[in-house]
Amino acid sequence: MRKNILYFILTLFFLSGLYATSLPEDNVVSGVIYEKIDTVSAEVDHIYPMLALAIVYKDWQEKNMLNKQGHNIGLVIVDENNMPVFWVRNSVHATHNGTQHGEVRLVSNLLNCEGFNKYLDKYTLYTTLEPCIMCAGMLSMVQIPKVVYAQKDLSCGNTQEIISTAKYPRYYKAFTVENGYKKDLEECFEQYKICKNDSITDFLVNDSAKEIFRKASNDLQDYKVKFKENRRVIKVAQEFLQNIQTKDNLDVLQCPKNM
Ligand SMILES: [Zn+2]
Repeated sequence: MRKNILYFILTLFFLSGLYATSLPEDNVVSGVIYEKIDTVSAEVDHIYPMLALAIVYKDWQEKNMLNKQGHNIGLVIVDENNMPVFWVRNSVHATHNGTQHGEVRLVSNLLNCEGFNKYLDKYTLYTTLEPCIMCAGMLSMVQIPKVVYAQKDLSCGNTQEIISTAKYPRYYKAFTVENGYKKDLEECFEQYKICKNDSITDFLVNDSAKEIFRKASNDLQDYKVKFKENRRVIKVAQEFLQNIQTKDNLDVLQCPKNM
């Protein structure tokens, strides 16, 4: 009997070894996680997700509101000089189209604007939530080199890693900053999952999520930069927030110069 148990355990070890070696670990390119804001670029990658959270807070969609535009997910695209050029939000409700995530709207609008061509290879995307697999594929196709998200999607995430193992021609690099918003959003979502359900979009209409977005919005307005090189970045981020019109006219193409 003991011998049988021993054989069983050895077989399990053998099979788990086989499984581990069959995973394409060598091909997986995982994202960059900043543990601290200790460089100029880490601070930029802290400021712009804060702006994305603040924009979503400014245009917050309550659970039962009429004429809801979409889920509480938004993004800002920033050029190579660290200037924000365009923002969008998820609009799946108003468009009656489940593909109208912020990334889809951003890419399809922006590439029709003057001065833009097939690709967005000189831009960085800052988003409140890690892109889903549909958007990860699309962002890869338009050659976005870098995506920074404020919250990891603990239900349907790791999409950059998945794309990096697929036979896509390219993939972006995902970054995130281990700041208070990320920690709070992810911890709150874990609690929410335990108590209610695991839908991230349901979580993003509840009051605990809203409070974290509100805090990011306040922090952005009072933020004192660590690195003097980022004085201009915080100034333009604050102005960008002030100037955005949250009423998104879905029928009219928006381009940066019109915003
Ligand atoms: Zn998506």
